[in-house]
Amino acid sequence: MSTLRFQALKEASNRRPSKFEEADRKSNIFGANVFNDKAMKQFLTSDAHKGVKDAVQHGTKIDRKLADYIAMGMKEWALSKGVTHYTHWFQPLTGTTAEKHDAFFETSYDGSDPVEKFGGGQLVQQEPDASSFPNGGIRNTFEARGYTAWDPTSPAFIFGTTLCIPTVFISYTGEALDYKTPLLRALNAVDEAATDVCKYFDKNVKKVTATLGWEQEYFLVDMALANSRPDIIMTGRTLLGHTSAKGQQLDDHYFGSIPTRALNYMRELEQECMYLGIPVKTRHNEVAPNQFELAPIFEETNLAVDHNSLLMDVMQKVAERHDFKVLFHEKPFKGVNGSGKHNNWSLATDTGVNLLSPGKTPMSNLQFLSFFINTIKAVDTYESLLRAAIATASNDHRLGANEAPPAIISVFIGQQLTKVLAELEGVSTGKLSPEEKTDLKLNVVGKIPDVLLDNTDRNRTSPFAFTGNKFEFRAVGSSANCANAMTTLNTIVAKQLKDFKKEVDALIDEKGLKKDEAIFNVLREYIKQTKNILFEGDGYSEAWEQEAAKRGLSNFKTTPLALKAKVSQQALDLFKEMNVMNHVEVEARYEIELEEYTKKIQIEGRVLGDIARNHVIPTAIRYQNTLIENVRGLKEIFGSDFENIAKEQIVLIKEISSHIEGINRKVEAMTEARKTANVITDAQEMAEAYCDDVKPHFEEIREHCDKLELLVDDETWTLTKYRELLFTR
Ligand code: ADP
Ligand code: MG
Repeated sequence: MSTLRFQALKEASNRRPSKFEEADRKSNIFGANVFNDKAMKQFLTSDAHKGVKDAVQHGTKIDRKLADYIAMGMKEWALSKGVTHYTHWFQPLTGTTAEKHDAFFETSYDGSDPVEKFGGGQLVQQEPDASSFPNGGIRNTFEARGYTAWDPTSPAFIFGTTLCIPTVFISYTGEALDYKTPLLRALNAVDEAATDVCKYFDKNVKKVTATLGWEQEYFLVDMALANSRPDIIMTGRTLLGHTSAKGQQLDDHYFGSIPTRALNYMRELEQECMYLGIPVKTRHNEVAPNQFELAPIFEETNLAVDHNSLLMDVMQKVAERHDFKVLFHEKPFKGVNGSGKHNNWSLATDTGVNLLSPGKTPMSNLQFLSFFINTIKAVDTYESLLRAAIATASNDHRLGANEAPPAIISVFIGQQLTKVLAELEGVSTGKLSPEEKTDLKLNVVGKIPDVLLDNTDRNRTSPFAFTGNKFEFRAVGSSANCANAMTTLNTIVAKQLKDFKKEVDALIDEKGLKKDEAIFNVLREYIKQTKNILFEGDGYSEAWEQEAAKRGLSNFKTTPLALKAKVSQQALDLFKEMNVMNHVEVEARYEIELEEYTKKIQIEGRVLGDIARNHVIPTAIRYQNTLIENVRGLKEIFGSDFENIAKEQIVLIKEISSHIEGINRKVEAMTEARKTANVITDAQEMAEAYCDDVKPHFEEIREHCDKLELLVDDETWTLTKYRELLFTR
């Protein structure tokens, strides 16, 4: 009896949407649980408040005494909201967030004088027992421990009854052990380089901020149904299951009316986000059944990354109240679309200018073009590194799977900007005649705002697309921490802007060119050099793969191959030069990601082997026995005529046997491949062995299992089916 499946189905079909009423209008509750400016004004002395603001805006250090005052105010604020504990909240390289709660509550040694305490020391630094976080050998090498340190640029917030203080996580020798540290360094690098370039156009610019607006895609599956599938519980995706007769072919889910249970979940989630200061704005159904998307208003990148990490945690917690499980995996179901997390990215000045948005004057448009073309150039130079930044075992299912960007990195800019670049390519070398300058300003650079207004040709197949006033990095996976992609993107753009500045300055100083002439000259060369990375066609097509190969673009379809770019000499030099990561840090990350890949595939292999042998085969045998019984009965009644009458059953019995044999043989082969892979000592080779020798068995095993699902009596089948997982609402 397949009790678990039917119990789960009964539970799921009896569900009613959980009741939910909004507490107040959004603008009234936004940021209520964040130690933001408003709270600081109320709970901090003006000196302490200024100290935090200076730290955020100018990176000024906060001394111990000031930290004491800030901690005191923060504690009072938290206690006024019923908070009992505090935690340093950080993002180790596990991909999730980490927290260890400590109570504010303290007593004297004899248990007297109970009091709530929280000092500057506890705010600024903590030492979690961090030996179990991935460190890629850093801590072993240096025999140093890790500590967390307050990041005042991301405000503290209250979740439940805990005060969460965003922190970096580093070893005592200074190596980053988390996602945030390199990200902050990359944001610093891009700030410096971009501010320098901005000064060509506006001397008043003092700071450039990278902005990020992520779009989080996810699946909602009924909790009972999800819990009935060991593969979903253990790996976040279905390792087997025959596709349901109806999938997404009718396009009836995308942007459709949101199912009530899901909608009530989203409403409560959005309210939680409001309290936490996460400015979520958009919600809609996505392409696949039970797939949805949530997008915020964009923010400064460090904050946006924190908010996305926090959101993923909050999403799962709120889902429990609505009897849902959220699947963040990039490909939870075969045969329907997977999930991504588009990273919309731009640069903004402290004077309020979006540097990737065309302006009103020819000069501001030249500024736009400088940032636009430099971004393209950065992607062109570092395409394989950008690919490596989004490489994970789960994202491999998505990239190049004819629904998501291919594993080839290219840039889409639209017809009109393609024309603008073509015209700029014709700019004369060296000094420009007054006529040429006027023509450029009036007819090329001056026309940009008009053309962008009708720049509506959106190419959904491009991994990196310009969408009017920002670039959209679409290849990022739905389960990823955006920091990996954002660290890389901001670092390569920083490096490119730095080089651009050098080249322009050289033309001004050595060739005596005017500033705008120098800029036009450098941009012209960049346009010539970067043609290979620009692609406007269908990124899903076979033809593009061939074309891209001719152009010399990399096409790493699997994570182990893609990750190598992380430790290329080019990458090591880049991260070092831009002060984002030293060699040890880069190499540690590379090791960690390889290991994570290997472990993920290893776990999937074990779970698949277990389900195939211990769920699928016994079920198939049970059903086969029923058939055998039936044939035996027919023989008793009809004698020699039975063979004709029981023909179908006999065919089925044989088919079932052959699939059982297939499963056993292939699980055996997979296990052998794992054993061979497990003795490899080199992390790269081991990951490749798992990728090339272990993983290919998954599909073969699955095929037999899925065929059996079609043959076996539905009443007997133990595993919850695709149609049930995807269409129960
Ligand atoms: P879509 O791409 O789905 O059509 P939009 O273009 O409206 O949707 O924006 C998607 C995301 O891009 C949103 O999260 C939005 O906040 C973000 N976004 C818009 N402008 C910027 C910007 N200048 N920098 C970073 N993100 C931005
Ligand atoms: Mg978008």
